[in-house]
Amino acid sequence: MNSEYRVLINGELCEAATKETMEVINPANGKVVGLAPKCTSLEIDRAAEAAWKAAPAWAEKAPTERAAIFFKMAELLRARRDEWAKLETMQYGGPIFKTYNFDMRFDAEHFEFMAGVGRAVTGKTLPVGPQAMSMTIRQPLGVVGLITPWNFPLVTAISKITPCLMMGNTAVVKPPSCAPLTVLKLGEIAVEAGIPPGVLNIVTGPGSTVGEALVKHPCIAKINFTGDSETGKRILALASAAVKPVACELGGKNAFIVLPDADMKATVEGAVWGGFFNSGQNCGASSRYLVHESVYDEFVEKFVAAAKLLRVGDPLNPETMIGPVAYKGHRDNIERFVARAKKSGAKLLLGGERPNTPETKDGYFVAPTIFGNCDPKSEIMQEEVFGPVVAVTRFKTPEQAVEIANDSRFGLCASIWTKDIRQGLVMTKQLKVGTVWLNQHLSIVFECPWGGCKESGHSKENSIMVLDEYSMMKNVWIDLIGTPATPWQGKLG
Ligand code: NDP
Repeated sequence: MNSEYRVLINGELCEAATKETMEVINPANGKVVGLAPKCTSLEIDRAAEAAWKAAPAWAEKAPTERAAIFFKMAELLRARRDEWAKLETMQYGGPIFKTYNFDMRFDAEHFEFMAGVGRAVTGKTLPVGPQAMSMTIRQPLGVVGLITPWNFPLVTAISKITPCLMMGNTAVVKPPSCAPLTVLKLGEIAVEAGIPPGVLNIVTGPGSTVGEALVKHPCIAKINFTGDSETGKRILALASAAVKPVACELGGKNAFIVLPDADMKATVEGAVWGGFFNSGQNCGASSRYLVHESVYDEFVEKFVAAAKLLRVGDPLNPETMIGPVAYKGHRDNIERFVARAKKSGAKLLLGGERPNTPETKDGYFVAPTIFGNCDPKSEIMQEEVFGPVVAVTRFKTPEQAVEIANDSRFGLCASIWTKDIRQGLVMTKQLKVGTVWLNQHLSIVFECPWGGCKESGHSKENSIMVLDEYSMMKNVWIDLIGTPATPWQGKLG
C-alpha cells in the first residue's frame, strides 16, 4: 500500500527508496490511521548531506529572516489546528481536549516564542587587561540530529526544531515510529512556509536502524534526544566514538510531596492532574506520592474519589480525560507493572483492571490505578511505568520526605504542597531534580527551562537557555597594542 505521508529530504516530499511503509495504529480501536515511509540509512545519508550543504547559507541568514519564516509556520499550523489535533489523537491516543487545547496551541506559539528570543542572543566581554579585548560569540553547530518520542509527538519535535533552526543550524528529525504522522505533516508546511531545501529534513524509520544511522553520521554535529533512559544510554555510547555531544531528556519518577498543612482541595486536584494527564505518559508525571502520616488517610480517600471521576474512553470525545495508552506493547508492559505491584504487598486502592466498556473494548486502555502503603524501595516506587498508575507512601518528617524523594536513579522534577513557603524552599534546595514546583505540578511553559539530572538526562528544553544547547561559544581575543604580549617578546629578532 502506498503512503500518503512523505518524508522531507532536501526540500522534497518523498517515499522511502525501498517503497516500504510502517503502519500507524490507532490505539483507541486497533485500526490503521496511516502509513509512514519505512526509511533506511540511505535516506539518512541523503538528509544529512542535504542539511550539511544547506548549513552555511542558513547560518548566514539574519535572525529576522528566520523569524519571518517562523511566523509563517505558526500561521499555517493554526490554520490546521482542527485537522492536526484529530490526527495527533488518532495516532497515539491523547484526548482531543489535550491535543486541541494544549498541543496545537503550544506548537504554533513555540515558533513565535523562538522567533522572538532567537533575536536576543548575546555574548559577553571579558576583563583581560588593557592590552586586549576579549568577547564571546554564540555560533551554530552545523547539522543537529533530533530524535523524538511519541508521548507528545509534535510538541516535542517542535520544541527541538525551533531553537535548532533559529540558532542557524540545520536539522534531520527522526520521529517515533508509532506516531510519526503529525511530524511528517510538518514537513508539508515547512515547504509552504519557505524553509529553504535541506534546512529541515524529516526521516521516519526504526530507531534501531534509522535512528542509529543518524547518531553515527559524520555530518551530524550533535544529537538532541528525548525518550527512554535506556535508549539515551545507547545513543550516548554510540556518539562517544566520535566524541559527539548528545543532549538527553529522559525518564522520570517524580515525587509529589504533601506536607501536613497543605490545602487539601488544591493538592488533590494537583495530584489527579499530575498523575493522570496524558494517561500518565509524561516524563514529568507525579508517579510517587509522599504524604505526611497525619494527612495520609484524608489525602488517599479524596485522591481516590477524585480519580474515580476521570472519564476513560474514546479520546475523540471532548469529555474524555483518559484515552488509551500509545500502543499494545506499552499497555501490556503497564499491566505487568500492575501485576507485580499487586504481588509486592502494596494496597490496590483504585483500578488495577483493564476497563471494559463499549468505548474501550477494542483499544489499549489502562484504568487510572492507585496503589497505597507502598514500600519506597519497591519497583512501583522506583521504576517509571509511563502510564496512569501511581504509588503512594507515607513519611514522618520533611527530612525523611526528601530522603525518599532523592532515593531514585531519576532526577527530573518534584512538587511540594504546603502553605509554609519557607519549609518548601528549604526542601526545594535539598531535592536532586531539575524542576521543583511549590503547590503546583506539571506547569511547563516556554519561559522556564525544563530538564533534569541523574538518569533523567542533563540538557534543557524551553526558555532562552535552550539556545545554548544548539550553539557553541567561541572566544575572540582582539589585541589593542600592536605587539602581542608574550614571554618571547623581543627574543625573536
Ligand atoms: P524510546 O527511547 O523508545 O524512543 C524515542 C525515540 O528514539 C524514537 O524516535 C525511537 O524510534 C528512537 N530510538 C529508539 N531506539 C533508538 C536507537 N537505538 N538509536 C536511536 N534512536 C532510537 O522512547 P519512547 O518513544 O518509548 O518514549 C517513552 C520514554 O521517553 C519514557 O521512558 C519517557 O520517560 C521518556 N520521555 C522523556 C521525556 C523528557 O522530557 N524527559 C519526554 C518524553 C518521553 P522508534 O520509535 O522507531 O523506536
